Amino acid sequence: IKLKHIKQVFRAEDIQTTALQSIDLEVNQGDFLAIMGPSGCGKSTLLNILGLLDNPTDGSYVFLDTEVSKLPERELAKIRKKNIGFVFQDFNLIDELTVFQNVELALLYLNLTKEERKKRVYEMLKEVSLEHRASHYPIKLSGGQQQRVAIARALVSRPKLIVADEPTGNLDSKLGHEIMELLSKFNREGTTLIMVTHTESHSRYASRVISLLDGKVVAWQDKTALEQSA
Ligand code: ADP
Ligand code: ADP
Repeated sequence: IKLKHIKQVFRAEDIQTTALQSIDLEVNQGDFLAIMGPSGCGKSTLLNILGLLDNPTDGSYVFLDTEVSKLPERELAKIRKKNIGFVFQDFNLIDELTVFQNVELALLYLNLTKEERKKRVYEMLKEVSLEHRASHYPIKLSGGQQQRVAIARALVSRPKLIVADEPTGNLDSKLGHEIMELLSKFNREGTTLIMVTHTESHSRYASRVISLLDGKVVAWQDKTALEQSA
């Protein structure tokens, strides 16, 4: 991932908001990047661009060797489905579907047989320790369990990148750390992770942390570099 001079300007009637001023950022395969900063500083706007949900107003974004900054939504959707899994603060599970069906959703666009899908879903549910909950509906699960289902859904298609927007925002501190441990485990196994968080202690799981203020990167820490130089 390579962002150069990324700018995002929103226009609503007469009001113009510069949400991102000029972001330069590189994320390599296997990185775990945390994005921090106060409310309104542009974190979600940046995550939406990184996750190929929005086009920037200006600048260049190279994702897996492709310049994606000006691609139409149809093309972005194709790249997203193949390469990116999403985890949100409010879990975004479908209440009418079981745990199994919620996770299976992420595989429906792939060319897999029903049996292959079943195998992949159960393997993934096992990874998040929820195979015994496959036939349950989300409402029967705790917040932490629901977020684990959401993580299973994001990962079951084996995406290269996970984009997580405050994945622990609705969880108490113990469950939050459980989710961070789980995300870290998948990151150590090779999945690139980009996460927005408000929680300092959760950003410590990341290998790199950037802080935004008024749509600009104002601070950054690179733990791998620190460890290597130590
Ligand atoms: P954060 O995620 O850090 O809280 P956001 O990225 O949501 O910040 O917002 C950054 C700025 O852009 C804010 O001033 C916000 O009001 C504005 N903004 C975000 N999305 C839109 C939109 N769709 N239309 C207009 N303004 C927006
Ligand atoms: P909150 O309502 O504050 O979000 P949770 O519902 O997530 O809290 O659960 C609090 C604790 O109870 C957690 O340790 C969770 O694992 C446990 N818990 C809640 N519901 C269940 C359930 N259906 N099965 C097993 N454990 C549960």
